[in-house]
Amino acid sequence: MRYHIWTAGCQMNKADSDKLAAGLERLGLEETARPEEADLVVLNTCSVRQHAEERAISKLGVLRKLKSRHNLTIAVMGCMVGPRTDNLRRRFPYVDVFTRPQEFDPILEAIGIDGQDPGGEFWPRTFAVPKGPTAYVPVVHGCDKFCSYCVVPYRRGRQRSRPIAEVRDEVEHLVSRGVREVTLLGQTVEAYGDDLPAGQAGLPDRPDLADLLRALHGFDGLYRLRFLTSYPRDMTERILRAVAELPKVCQHFSLPVQSSDDGVLERMRRGYTAAEYRQKLDLLRRIMPEAAVSTDVIVGFCGETEAEFRRTYDLLAELRFDKVHVAAYSPRPGTIAWRRMPDDVPREVKKERLRAVEELQARIAGEINSALLGRTVEVLVEEEKGGKLGGPARPLGGRTRSGKLVHFGGTHPEPACPEDSRRVEGARPFEGLFARGESASGGRAQLGDLVNVVIERTSPWSLQGRLAEAATPRMGGDQPVPLPERPAGVAALQPRAERP
Ligand code: SF4
Repeated sequence: MRYHIWTAGCQMNKADSDKLAAGLERLGLEETARPEEADLVVLNTCSVRQHAEERAISKLGVLRKLKSRHNLTIAVMGCMVGPRTDNLRRRFPYVDVFTRPQEFDPILEAIGIDGQDPGGEFWPRTFAVPKGPTAYVPVVHGCDKFCSYCVVPYRRGRQRSRPIAEVRDEVEHLVSRGVREVTLLGQTVEAYGDDLPAGQAGLPDRPDLADLLRALHGFDGLYRLRFLTSYPRDMTERILRAVAELPKVCQHFSLPVQSSDDGVLERMRRGYTAAEYRQKLDLLRRIMPEAAVSTDVIVGFCGETEAEFRRTYDLLAELRFDKVHVAAYSPRPGTIAWRRMPDDVPREVKKERLRAVEELQARIAGEINSALLGRTVEVLVEEEKGGKLGGPARPLGGRTRSGKLVHFGGTHPEPACPEDSRRVEGARPFEGLFARGESASGGRAQLGDLVNVVIERTSPWSLQGRLAEAATPRMGGDQPVPLPERPAGVAALQPRAERP
């Protein structure tokens, strides 16, 4: 039996799909990249934006045709499945099973292999099989914040943190299979541990994200740790200091602001003011002046006036984020805003505001990235682009510690916006000496290698350069890094395998 999983939305969905795939393979199913060859197709959906739902609905149209030609089981999983399931059932009667995020068992029932326990967190001991040198590991499920526009708490439930030992087991499994970078996931990841009892991993108090980072830091073979998404109110000085002190933890933050107008923030029920957000970012940048910070913004939220939007625009211009994810507000059924607030900003106005933010951010990101021209950055090699068969070069791609996308080796494409690209005078063309990702000494970079790349060209969205040499991983993971306020005993945490 063959399966195909289509995934929309956030990294959490991606992690869920990987875990489902691991479980299905454990039960003897085989993955196929072509839905027309599959006996089971799972759509892992997102409903955070209307556009994401529309994409899933269009996929369902294609699957209906496939199902009319051969015996196909269709499962719809993820955030589209919630209280409106009856609606969905009426609209898409040919779908065999609707199941909520991370509820895998109904899918097994639909294909007639229920009753088997593949083990794991949801299936106790089924961890995702890594498909490359990077992996996502959910550490907090659900969310307790109930922002007025957001469906996540209704679809993914209340916050549940995974015990440190369970996360450590999963990371150990991934690292032993070649993963070099792990991103810890949570909708509000700094809330990690709030719902756990004291005494976890020998800690006298409830663990927090700082404790978790220390517990994972010592794995040999793990080069980088990241985490997302941050929530301003949950981000503590203790966590920030741990990030600054642990060499493997990337100083790269995703800290959504959503709006910079206190009235809009209140209507969004974000739980902070613009001033409090600024204070938190200021603390972060004082502790880590080199940190990269991205943010999320919603434009055209219910009742947003031109002046309110202008405050957000001015904040983005002033705080200069590395990246801004901007979306026009669309009401999500079941949320507080959908129930109580009119979606009264005209579509055209939303589009204009969206465009204004995109243009501003393209300029800022272009300036930030162009400051890297001629500098050497550490890149983890994550992908090898196809290139032409028998052609001279296969470009490699990866990310810096700050999360910037870097292409090097091979024949690079022209930037999407040539007027926004900058180029080092006299830079060596990509074809030639460093083609195929080879360094001056002839070494070939492999997936999962840490390498140094000299940046020769930049755009607001990515960097291009040439391979300089292998980079030395920032280890130091086994060195206790004392924090003044850390309770006794935390520094001694080691991966389970290394403990007596
Ligand atoms: Fe949604 Fe707000 Fe929770 Fe983020 S913090 S997942 S926006 S409810």
